[in-house]
Amino acid sequence: MTVGRFAPSPSGRIHLGNILCCLLAWLSARQKGGKVVLRIEDLDTARCPQRYAEQMLEDLRWLGLDWDEGPETGGPDGPYFQSRRTALYQAALERLEALGLVYPCFCTRAELHAASAPHREDGLTVYAGTCRHLTPAQRAERAVRRSPALRLRVPDKEFSFVDGHMGECVENLERDCGDFLLRRSDGMFAYQLAVVVDDAAMGVTEVVRGADLLSSTPRQLYLYQLLGLTPPEFFHFPLLLAPDGRRLSKRDADAGLDSLRGRVSAEELLGRLARLAGFHPSGEPSPAAGLLEEFSWEMVPQEDIRLPEKLFE
Ligand code: GLU
Repeated sequence: MTVGRFAPSPSGRIHLGNILCCLLAWLSARQKGGKVVLRIEDLDTARCPQRYAEQMLEDLRWLGLDWDEGPETGGPDGPYFQSRRTALYQAALERLEALGLVYPCFCTRAELHAASAPHREDGLTVYAGTCRHLTPAQRAERAVRRSPALRLRVPDKEFSFVDGHMGECVENLERDCGDFLLRRSDGMFAYQLAVVVDDAAMGVTEVVRGADLLSSTPRQLYLYQLLGLTPPEFFHFPLLLAPDGRRLSKRDADAGLDSLRGRVSAEELLGRLARLAGFHPSGEPSPAAGLLEEFSWEMVPQEDIRLPEKLFE
């Protein structure tokens, strides 16, 4: 059975990009008769206060995008808030440590910036491996002054996978990414580790998310492999851009639900988003279920989608 999921980070009110993500995840799973899990990715508790998560649940209900397992509905694989799942991430970290692949990293932000290879297109800096070869004595000496982050040693090896929407993607983890974080120096587990542990534990079989996370996928596939878990299928969809071509942000008033909810119905909003995403040419208002027949990944473009100046008159 197909199991899709929404995995929003409640660091503010959801915007059109998040809504499109939930809509596509919902349609892709429901069209196959599958179910939908909702998981709140609130690991960064300082940036994700509880009230944002509550608002998000309410917004999703207003949109009519329902879920079978998650907050409020419950389910066998909870809790559905990442902030309450840290014991699972710790267990996975210990498995990786037992493989001898985890090492402490004492680099400060400034050091990372100075030592890293040129920034990639997506903004990720390739870690130069500064702390990879510290001796036990050097580690002990540095640990007195600074609590370390933990990194995973990656191989000089190509990882390729076929994205359900974007096609074949290849990345050499060492060259294109470098040893990546599993836990920050303040103890917060990294997204890459948490998302893999959770998608596997919740039986997720397909992940639908924005193309900004396409380059995270090889890292996640490596974690699946090391942890002996079965990866889901991935579908990355193009990003929604503001009318001037910038990345959409919570500051774009027209893109926020704050202003939209008072002006348009959920059906109007979903109809317009579905047209922008290529599979609902009329743009007519429609509940999510009304789009099931028309939806097809083949009609969704691969290039970023620019929002029109006025989405609604
Ligand atoms: N929590 C992430 C976000 O809101 C999504 C993670 C994912 O879909 O893997 O951007």
